[in-house]
Amino acid sequence: MNPSEIIFATANHNKVIEIAGKLGDSFKIITPAELGYAEDIPETHETIPENAIEKAQFIWEKFHKTCFADDTGLEVDYLNGAPGVYSARYAGEPKNPARNVVKLLKELEGVPFEQRTARFRCVIALIEEGVLHTFEGICEGHISLEPMGALGFGYDPVFVPEGMERTMATMSLEEKNAISHRGRAVEKLIAHLTQQ
Ligand code: IMP
Repeated sequence: MNPSEIIFATANHNKVIEIAGKLGDSFKIITPAELGYAEDIPETHETIPENAIEKAQFIWEKFHKTCFADDTGLEVDYLNGAPGVYSARYAGEPKNPARNVVKLLKELEGVPFEQRTARFRCVIALIEEGVLHTFEGICEGHISLEPMGALGFGYDPVFVPEGMERTMATMSLEEKNAISHRGRAVEKLIAHLTQQ
């Protein structure tokens, strides 16, 4: 059987690889760029769910095909939930993941590991036949004292998932997908897409 095509409203190649790895062969992800849309997708809101919904609705309006978007934030308790919805631009414009990590470690300088609790929160917004559905995935953990690992992307080098002693940037795609915020949100998305 041919896989069902589904547009993923993102320009982030890392996210495409992670989600494609989890969706398997029943679904084929298409990106807006492959459909000729290579501009930025707007995300203008102050909450993660609203931004995910905005991105999905933007792409639905353009193509009227089943589509979804992911918005993710890192919430650090010691920083009262920052950077949260501002995670991508934490160190200012233009967005730069390496500078974001440096800023985060600076803000947490001298804070002991036990007090560096944090979580990734991922919301996937799906629009199917014009109807919106959202799925949330959370991964609890700590911010490490220093960067470790070169895999993954974004804040992965400084995020140690709960119960582990190494960062997400030391994990294979399969390892990260099994426990990550995005992996968990995608599991809910798959359950929805495959329900009879
Ligand atoms: P957005 O969802 O693309 O807006 O991502 C917000 C910020 O979180 C960006 O700085 C990303 O690099 C970072 N980010 C998103 N997902 C992950 C992840 O799975 N691991 C580490 N950082 C992430």
